[in-house]
Amino acid sequence: MKRIGFIGLGIMGKPMARNLLAAGYPLAVYDIVPAAMETVVAAGATAAASSREVAAQSDVVITMLPNSPEVRQAVLGEDGVLAGARPGLILIDMSSIAPLASREIAEAAAARGVRMLDAPVSGGEPKAIQGTLAIMAGGPQDVFDEVKDILGKMGSSVTRVGDIGSGNVAKLANQMIVALNIAAMSEAMVLATKAGVDPKKVFEAIRGGLAGSTVLEAKMPLVLAGNFKPGFRIELHIKDLMNALDTAHAIGVPVPLSSGVLEILQALKVGGKGGDDHGGIVQFYEDLARIRVREH
Ligand code: NAD
Repeated sequence: MKRIGFIGLGIMGKPMARNLLAAGYPLAVYDIVPAAMETVVAAGATAAASSREVAAQSDVVITMLPNSPEVRQAVLGEDGVLAGARPGLILIDMSSIAPLASREIAEAAAARGVRMLDAPVSGGEPKAIQGTLAIMAGGPQDVFDEVKDILGKMGSSVTRVGDIGSGNVAKLANQMIVALNIAAMSEAMVLATKAGVDPKKVFEAIRGGLAGSTVLEAKMPLVLAGNFKPGFRIELHIKDLMNALDTAHAIGVPVPLSSGVLEILQALKVGGKGGDDHGGIVQFYEDLARIRVREH
C-alpha cells in the first residue's frame, strides 16, 4: 500500500485526509497551522514538521492549499516537497490554482524526477466528508492510472481531462458556472420575494424544471435559513475568478459575465463578508433591493 503525505488540512483537506486514513493508507500530514493537524492525528495520521518531512516519508504527496503562491511555497520552497522527495514520487496538487502555475510547478518537479498531476475538486465540504467529490485531473495517463484508486477514496467521479494544467482549466470552468448560477438564483429570488411571493414556494415550484440545478439544491436551503457559514468562502471564489480572468485574458477570451460577478464578490468582501459562504452572494442583491430572502 502506498504511503501518502497530505499537506494543507483546512476545510477540505481535513475530511479528505480522514477518508484516506479510513481506507487504511499510512498518512503523514503537515499544515503551517499546527492546530489544523489535531483531528487527523487523533484519527491515526503522523504529524510532520514540514512539507519536506512529509515528502521524505511518502510515495504520494497530496497538497490541498489555498492558491498558487502557497502551492509554490509548499512544493518549491526551502523546506518544500521537492527538497524531501525521492525520484519517482507522485505529487498530486488538489488545490484550485492557476493552470499556468500547475505547469510551472510540474516542470520544476520533473527536473527532480517527481511526477505530478493537478487534480482540483468540486463538491465542497459536505462531499469532501462523504468522499463523493468530483475530481478533475490533468497529467500523464500512466501517473493518473497509478493513483486513480487513491483519488477514488476521496471522490465518486474521477476524470482525467488531459495534460498537466487541464484539471485546473476544468475547475475554472466549474467556478465560472457556479458563481453565475448563484448570482442568477439570488437575483431571481430577491425579485420573487419583493414581489410578495414566498421564496420557499418558488424554490419548490421550479426545482424540478429547467432552472433546477445542483447549485439551487445546495444553496437555496441555506439562503432561506440565512446561513452563510462556509463552506466555500467568498474570498476563495474571488481567487478562482481572478485566475479565470487572468487565464482568459492571456489567451484572448472575453468573459463579461464572470467579471461582473467578480465585482459583486469584491463588493461583498469590502463590506466585511469575504469569509461568508458564496451562497452569501444573495446579500448583495438583498441590500440593493432592501429585502431579505428568508423562510416565512
Ligand atoms: P482552507 O483555507 O480552509 O485550508 C487551507 C489550509 O492550508 C489551511 O489549513 C492553511 O493553514 C494551510 N496552508 C496554507 N499555506 C500553507 C503552506 N505553505 N504549507 C502548509 N499548509 C498551508 O481552504 P479550503 O477551503 O480547504 O480550500 C483548499 C483548496 O480547495 C482551495 O484551492 C479551494 O479553492 C479549493 N476548494 C475548496 C472548496 C470548499 O468548499 N472549501 C471546494 C472545492 C475546492
